[in-house]
Amino acid sequence: MNNIKIPMLDLKAQYTCIKPKIDKAVEDVFESQYFILGPKVEELEAKIAHYSEASHAVGVSSGTDALLICLMALDIEPDDEVITTPFSFFSTAGVISRLNAIPKFVDIDPVTYNLEPKKLKSAITRRTKAVIPVHLFGQCVDMDPILELSSQHQLPVIEDAAQSIGAQYKNRKAGSMGDLGIFSFFPSKNLGGAGDGGMVTTQNPSLYEKLKILRVHGSQQKYYHKMVGGNFRLDALQAAVLLVKLQYLDSWSEKRCQNASHYNQLFERSGLIKKGLVKTPKTVYKDSGDPNHHIFNQYTIRAQSRDKLRAHLQDQGISTAIYYPVPFHLQECYQDLGYLKGDFPEAEKASQEVLSLPVFPELTCDQQEYIVDKIKEFYS
Ligand SMILES: *Cc1c(COP(=O)(O)O)cnc(C)c1O
Repeated sequence: MNNIKIPMLDLKAQYTCIKPKIDKAVEDVFESQYFILGPKVEELEAKIAHYSEASHAVGVSSGTDALLICLMALDIEPDDEVITTPFSFFSTAGVISRLNAIPKFVDIDPVTYNLEPKKLKSAITRRTKAVIPVHLFGQCVDMDPILELSSQHQLPVIEDAAQSIGAQYKNRKAGSMGDLGIFSFFPSKNLGGAGDGGMVTTQNPSLYEKLKILRVHGSQQKYYHKMVGGNFRLDALQAAVLLVKLQYLDSWSEKRCQNASHYNQLFERSGLIKKGLVKTPKTVYKDSGDPNHHIFNQYTIRAQSRDKLRAHLQDQGISTAIYYPVPFHLQECYQDLGYLKGDFPEAEKASQEVLSLPVFPELTCDQQEYIVDKIKEFYS
């Protein structure tokens, strides 16, 4: 037995590189004893709005709360329908249900794993009130047809860019294309905090004002409540940490891209693609010549005998992950929505085949070669 261990993510390595700056930022917050919202949060909001080319940004308590507050700002009511993908992290659908609205799913494009725009139209009804496309794994959804159809039907679009801060679609940044966009600062995202945190972006000044009020229990003037909101505030400590990390975000995402293209080469050379045993992720929409930037929050392959391969890699000290093993319409909590197995075949197939490999910025070429060697070994 060797003792090689390759994790999915190595946040300790990241912290070691930036420790003096992070420690100083944290100390400054303690010195100020100003912990909730305040100048650090405002600075982060301005920088994230600028970074993502959105007009406004509002710091909130998590990516999930960012989605929830967006739906609240749009006045989503019980029995309204909100269209989204069946293949994402649970929050995307969960927030719809928490307002007693109804999630309506549209199957995915098997290449990008993102909502298939061609299938959107037939899901729109008179009760549809919003659309939430998810930029999964770090790659944007094909937004143009979604934005066009949504504007024809006057449906607001919320981009779930929790995994895709900095990603681009035809020169436009994730979070700047819809009426609203959301980011998550969960520690495993490309820009991760020291706990939970999130951000809403918007191009719309009146939604911006409403989001800020909803974030503090619906009160603009303290103890006078215009509407029922919640405690959706971002902590100053999170903002301070994120302000440091934001300076490194592009270089980290670039390292992830390099790792992804190195994997692509290794898989190409391995012969596994030709034999149809492995499919590597594709960065798409390149045909138009427009720059579309994938930030590889995950490097996700499709693999034959996925579960056995995963166990084999685990035995060799290689961590992998399955995002996501069960599509929303087959989740236990959603049985009452009335969907059946077979309703979204691409999402179902993906859930059986996908495997995410370590792609974090500090991953070395040697480690990647070891991983692909072990995958090859499994199939031989
Ligand atoms: C992480 C994630 C969220 C939720 O973010 P939290 O900060 O963990 O609440 C929502 N949608 C997607 C696609 C995510 O990956």
